[in-house]
Amino acid sequence: MPFPTKAYAAAAPGVALAPYSLERRDVGPNDVHLKIKFCGICHSDLHLVRNEWNFGALFPMVPGHEIVGVVQSVGGAVTKLKEGEIGAVGCLVDSCRSCEYCIDNEEQHCPKPTYTYSAIGADGKPTYGGYSTDIVVDERFICKVPDALKDQLAGVAPLLCAGITSWMPMVYHGMNKPGKKIGVIGLGGLGHMAVKFGVAFGSEVTVISTSEGKREEAMKVLGASQFINSKDPKQMASMSGTLDFVLDTVAVPKDMNLYVQLLKPRGVLATVGAPPPTYSFQIAPMAMILGSKMVAGSAIGGLKATQEMLDFCGEKGITAMVEVIKMQEVNEAYERMVRADVRYRFSIDMEASAL
Ligand code: NAP
Ligand code: ZN
Ligand code: ZN
Repeated sequence: MPFPTKAYAAAAPGVALAPYSLERRDVGPNDVHLKIKFCGICHSDLHLVRNEWNFGALFPMVPGHEIVGVVQSVGGAVTKLKEGEIGAVGCLVDSCRSCEYCIDNEEQHCPKPTYTYSAIGADGKPTYGGYSTDIVVDERFICKVPDALKDQLAGVAPLLCAGITSWMPMVYHGMNKPGKKIGVIGLGGLGHMAVKFGVAFGSEVTVISTSEGKREEAMKVLGASQFINSKDPKQMASMSGTLDFVLDTVAVPKDMNLYVQLLKPRGVLATVGAPPPTYSFQIAPMAMILGSKMVAGSAIGGLKATQEMLDFCGEKGITAMVEVIKMQEVNEAYERMVRADVRYRFSIDMEASAL
């Protein structure tokens, strides 16, 4: 039987989130029902709630795609997880499963993806995300949280988007081996995960930030080797031609030429920050030609890679650094996120929120 679920939703673009009730589907043979413990707040939630991407966002919208929970029940055909185990859901809850990308475990590139919220599922109904007490998802789209992380679930939730989105371009571009020099633009949810992964891979990581106040923590706690303030042209110039790879997690206009010039010859700048489509950046072709440099994009990650990332985090003891909040504090959290005032991810404690 479909069952009622408490949630928080935005009723229309840009309005404050407020309590909302929805129905989750009956647990089918391939489904897993998670009782949600924590849900991270991604900057994409804010872009979508404010309809900044012009993607035909659906309202009422229950955001949330960084979900961890305890398996409450499973359908008869489920083999991946058992009742009582910890499961996790990211940005996708379905895809066509038959295209070349789905077959290749790159569901994020499927032409018919079903996003965790603000999408229409195969049953023709809107999807609702993790700012809710329960979720029912097909087992293909659930990952298993390693036992080693089961007592740190607030910090595990953000791995499902901030983690995999930083991980994927680092892996695509061969940064998951020691001795690389990596730059990370923006020390927010995605950026701080990129720093943690870079350090764990054995790289020298340089944080490139607009927030001088994050310097000490970036180096002493997150393990960055260097911190440069992007507002200071001298500090930027001092790093010219030194980096193998730069990950751009910032979604505000900036002069990309300044970042391309940080790359060594054959270096790669991968961008994941997702500003509104009205913004586009300009790069002088010569800035890329001299040094045969590359500029790339990257979108989240597939389910297989997400499980590999989680397993790596389990082995290395990596979780996101989070500020745990209650659901009722979400609107204030959004305002703080816009001001880059979060160290470094909000994680909503669903049980403590007592919806
Ligand atoms: P976040 O936690 O808000 O971090 C963004 C960071 O940008 C801030 O911490 C800040 O770092 C920096 N920043 C620089 N100038 C800023 C300004 N004027 N105002 C605000 N912040 C500024 O965001 P996030 O969750 O990491 O997400 C970052 C971007 O990636 C978003 O656009 C999000 O939608 C996108 N995203 C993309 C994908 C994908 O698949 N490609 C997946 C998830 C998210 P400093 O203080 O260090 O400067
Ligand atoms: Zn996200
Ligand atoms: Zn597909």
